Amino acid sequence: MKIYTADWLITQNDNRDIISEAALAIEGNRVEEVGPAAEVLARYPGTEVDALARAVILPGLINGHTHLPMAALRGISDDKPLLAWLTEDIFPLEARWEPALLRTSALLSCAELLRTGTTAFYDMYMLQENTFAAADTAGLRGVLGENLTHFFPQLGGGSLDEIFGRLRSLADAWRGHPRLRGAVTPHAVYTTDPDLLTAARALADELSWGFGMHMSETRRETADCLRDFHARPIPYCDSLGILRPGTALFHCVDVDDDDIAILRARQCAAVHNPASNMKLASGAAPVARLLSAGVPVALGTDGPASENAQNLFREIWLAALLGKLSASDPTAISAQTALDMATRHGAAAIGDPLAGTLAPGSHADFCALDLTSPNLQPVHHILSTVVYAAAGLENTLTVVDGRECYRDGRFLTFDYPALLSEAASLRRWASSR
Ligand SMILES: [Zn+2]
Repeated sequence: MKIYTADWLITQNDNRDIISEAALAIEGNRVEEVGPAAEVLARYPGTEVDALARAVILPGLINGHTHLPMAALRGISDDKPLLAWLTEDIFPLEARWEPALLRTSALLSCAELLRTGTTAFYDMYMLQENTFAAADTAGLRGVLGENLTHFFPQLGGGSLDEIFGRLRSLADAWRGHPRLRGAVTPHAVYTTDPDLLTAARALADELSWGFGMHMSETRRETADCLRDFHARPIPYCDSLGILRPGTALFHCVDVDDDDIAILRARQCAAVHNPASNMKLASGAAPVARLLSAGVPVALGTDGPASENAQNLFREIWLAALLGKLSASDPTAISAQTALDMATRHGAAAIGDPLAGTLAPGSHADFCALDLTSPNLQPVHHILSTVVYAAAGLENTLTVVDGRECYRDGRFLTFDYPALLSEAASLRRWASSR
């Protein structure tokens, strides 16, 4: 057992308890107890104590939507509409990926997640054996979705039968992993057809994998879906029978009340990506309406090519601000709600009820912000400090499954200086068009 103490502990438990002069006791990969330090220390005399002093411990953040291997494409193309950005700049580069580069790129994203207090993610990309390897090395928890589209049959492994065969092998290779699980993630309604979507859903069921997809990201997507399939994206997918409990739908920007009713009835989780949606001018997801309907709304960064940072503290802050602005109501998304999205709702999106809270029995997944940072002083309300003032780089400790993965400037699960050297190859690859 080990006990961490800190000035503050945000539990995100059912009561949303916040404890001052707090202690977090962990046993192996689980939380044993949280409480006032004096009580916890008295209960476990002689236990190793790690005093973090002027810090706030909070549950590790959960990035509900990302494309980790796209770190190599960060900043390669900005300031364009989504479809032009994808078809003119991103897809051509993605068509010539090499496995070693994918792994380096994914590990670079993993480093950024750990650096900024994220302990779990829901990823979506191609050739995910590379991301599995990177996330396993980094020590992160995650759901890794294999992207299915009609754009890249050559990258996915050939015919649909061949791709599905590869995914069955991938599932065999990683089955039973303590932190990593697969998913089948068709790219979107506009890059697939009904046959691919229903086959993808069947494969997810066969493998006991998760299922997710980009959904209703723009009004253009809705218009095209109405033209091609005579229904809005969510009713169209529902008519195919692919929306089930635990399905994660990324974006949900252009959703109406009927769409929301379907998400609620099918017990799907939405994932809000405020920075990506703002940068691509996709619109503002109706987060407050989704939440009030009982739909979990997690937070995601989207890939590093569209939001550029894999830092969930930025998304928490933006989710609160954008939620207020788009509803013309400063109470629409509170600090507590924004943090819930990055923790408890994230747990719903990745289908892991032991994530997103610090309570007895939950995963020992947490981070700790250094409160001596000038932008975090003074502390009147610690929730306000974390949501509205923190930038993420104040994080000094990231623990996943009871294991310290990042601490005080050092990555403890892999050789970061060596990764930085490898990252130079990413730039050479991306610029050799
Ligand atoms: Zn995305």
